[in-house]
Amino acid sequence: MKIIVTGGAGFIGSAVCRSVAGVKGYKVLNIDKLTYAADVRSLSSISQQPNYHFAKQDICNKAAIKQLFAEFKPDAVMHLAAESHVDRSIDGPAEFVQTNIVGTFTLLEVARDYFESLSSEQKGRFRFHHISTDEVYGSLGEEGLFTEETPYAPRSPYSASKAGSDHLVSAWGHTYGLPVIISNCSNNYGPFQFPEKLIPLAILNMLHGRKVPVYGDGLNIRDWLYVEDHASALITILTKGKIGAKYNVGGNSERTNLGVVRSIFDVLCDLRPETVPRDFDDVIDPVADRPGHDRRYAIDPTKMRDELGWQPTHSFEDGIRQTVQWYLDNRDWWMPILKNKYSGERLGQLTGGAA
Ligand code: NAD
Repeated sequence: MKIIVTGGAGFIGSAVCRSVAGVKGYKVLNIDKLTYAADVRSLSSISQQPNYHFAKQDICNKAAIKQLFAEFKPDAVMHLAAESHVDRSIDGPAEFVQTNIVGTFTLLEVARDYFESLSSEQKGRFRFHHISTDEVYGSLGEEGLFTEETPYAPRSPYSASKAGSDHLVSAWGHTYGLPVIISNCSNNYGPFQFPEKLIPLAILNMLHGRKVPVYGDGLNIRDWLYVEDHASALITILTKGKIGAKYNVGGNSERTNLGVVRSIFDVLCDLRPETVPRDFDDVIDPVADRPGHDRRYAIDPTKMRDELGWQPTHSFEDGIRQTVQWYLDNRDWWMPILKNKYSGERLGQLTGGAA
């Protein structure tokens, strides 16, 4: 199976590439623009594999993407390229509209054209898998879970741009007969995550003796999934999912933000007691809430379990321990990022006007 993975130099895309490259029968072309969020070092374990290929390209560049499709002749597309950080979408939504909506539109148009050129046998194999987020469903109260039928109610520029892309994918399936599948996943964590996101930020702040900024009362709830479990879910969906279907992917691990930071604190107390204060309260820096901060996300995982037989294999406790250990063991990966790209400053506070 020849797969184009977009955004394969990012956090989740690189996990997908790592899990597929080297496996007999697969060939991967990773198309990535290499934005601030990308890191080719996340792919160093597979970059020499003969079945792994990389093209630095913007998914909005239609002519170039068309050329890559014509040369590689994919059997499938796994579309992960996106601007992905909610706080950055508050500061600068234009890039989110451009990549997440216009970029997805461009990719769909190229895929549609390419699909039309295939033989009926090749058409039967082809699929376009769009990777999205549970944030498109909006915010839950204390009760309830997102199912695949939950109406969309995105509330941040990021989630609105992802919802827009989901609707485009679905429309290209219905209108043009492009064989599409959409999956909506909860928050991911694990190795190689850019340190603007809560879990790596908390680990690295604690390792540097800095407090961890916690938005509002710290009681916003997310469901957390270990990134390698997400990669396995995506391969399962690609190979076993029904054309035209939608799948919600979750980790059965709802946690408050404070609970997440507490878990990291507990692991560090065990692994590196000399780096953390005695008292958990001394680690927390309560800061003004994120504008429009959704209160709770939670996934009903029934469809993935019952229809595709997929379940996460990491508990949150195991996953967070492995993640903390990975950051302890991989200073060479994150030190240059903190030095050259992002040193932990607060983003998304509505300080500037529109660009
Ligand atoms: P990421 O920010 O780590 O990586 C995104 C990648 O896309 C980067 O390598 C970047 O260079 C690339 N990219 C951005 N704009 C591009 C463009 N115009 N052309 C080509 N490449 C471009 O993101 P991630 O956390 O790995 O998320 C991957 C996908 O999964 C996204 O679509 C995101 O919406 C979705 N998702 C993420 C999470 C999560 O918790 N991180 C949860 C659910 C869904």
